[in-house]
Amino acid sequence: MTTRTRFAPSPTGFIHLGNIRSALYPWAFARSTGGAFILRVEDTDVERSTQASVDVILEGMEWLGLDYDEGPFYQMQRMERYKAVLAELQAAGHVYPCYMSVAELDALRERQMAAKEKPRYDGTWRPAPGKTLPAIPAGVEPVLRFMNPQDGSVAWDDKVKGRIEISNAELDDLVIARPDGTPTYNFCVVVDDIDMGMTHVIRGDDHINNTPRQINIFRALGAEPPVYAHLPTVLNEQGEKMSKRNGAKPVTAYRDEGYLPDAMVNYLARLGWSHGDDEIFSREQFLQWFDLDHLGRSAAQFDEAKLRWVNAQHLKAMADESLAALVAEQLLKRGVSADDRLARICGLFKDRCDTTVALADWAERFFVENVQASPEEHAQHIVPAIYPALDTLAGKLADADWSKSSIAAAIKETLAAHGLKMPQLAMPVRVLVMGTAHTPSVDAVIELLDRKLFLTRLEKR
Ligand code: GLU
Repeated sequence: MTTRTRFAPSPTGFIHLGNIRSALYPWAFARSTGGAFILRVEDTDVERSTQASVDVILEGMEWLGLDYDEGPFYQMQRMERYKAVLAELQAAGHVYPCYMSVAELDALRERQMAAKEKPRYDGTWRPAPGKTLPAIPAGVEPVLRFMNPQDGSVAWDDKVKGRIEISNAELDDLVIARPDGTPTYNFCVVVDDIDMGMTHVIRGDDHINNTPRQINIFRALGAEPPVYAHLPTVLNEQGEKMSKRNGAKPVTAYRDEGYLPDAMVNYLARLGWSHGDDEIFSREQFLQWFDLDHLGRSAAQFDEAKLRWVNAQHLKAMADESLAALVAEQLLKRGVSADDRLARICGLFKDRCDTTVALADWAERFFVENVQASPEEHAQHIVPAIYPALDTLAGKLADADWSKSSIAAAIKETLAAHGLKMPQLAMPVRVLVMGTAHTPSVDAVIELLDRKLFLTRLEKR
């Protein structure tokens, strides 16, 4: 059997890390089993769905490299199909019209609550042999309800939660079409999952209550339900369910903040799945290792500091040239254009950075006119006593060969000529040419600077 999985987001808000994890796992499962991954946009909530939200889904997936084999399908474009399947289901006797008004439903609910019963539709309009249905009220368009089996139970072996069994007596007859004939959510999902040949549905456990109802609809349509894996929630740093309402960022914000796609994949993978104690792994390793048997059973908590750490590990391991391409993009956003020194600059600074934005902050200093140290740092290091040595160094580097070794030699000669120790000269040089005393080895930094820029900055005291 070829596996087929899907990501089925509703574009009703900007998808955040918790949501995109529900794309990562089915994608990884399809990729690691040689199956197909499908993107389906569930946009039937017309009031709340927006194109901007669709864009974040598409951009976020592209950024993270979660490529899909089919889609994006949009549910709103499949309405005719849902209506056709609804007609089949109705013809087969699995659907009946219900004329109960909203006021009647409310009254029913209140009676049930007062009697401490679970609110549920009472089956007033459900046909049964020998049963007389109420008179059809004039001028009322009915909803259509699915005739849920009344006996037995629905059970499935959830890949995360284990065996779940729900008695059909717990489930009332679901509305599957509104008075205007438009099908409702749970019905569309089942039609899609059948039409799209889903073998595995991997989704958030906020859908677990829908699953027994969906399974009954599958069966009524003569189809076998897929394997289900319901993922525990992702909590934010405060321990609440991650949601845009409590500050979760759209997934694309992490791209703009300088996170690497492979690091995000690594971090998100670990947020609810494990491979022994492995914390840092590549995309290829992840796909080799991923399985549904090691999905976590308890809620995972987002931890930004950990994400930064994971990003830093990937950043360090990344080839300088590839890093330079990403940093160049960050620089361009700031209106700074770099040149072919950028890869070496990335190589020199990547160990001390945890995002490409932090790396761009360093790289920028090589390509803009001026750098400015803090007044404190400047006052501490740029004192008149050091000016003669700075002048000597400037003189030597005005026409020296521009290589790390000759720069190092010029520094050494300057130290000897003025009887100074390395930090006494290196610190002020760094403050003047880099805007901070905390940089990698000063000769390595100078070598990557343009000579003219270096000399100009050295003079600006
Ligand atoms: N559209 C649903 C959501 O965004 C997902 C439905 C599903 O995966 O079955 O929560």
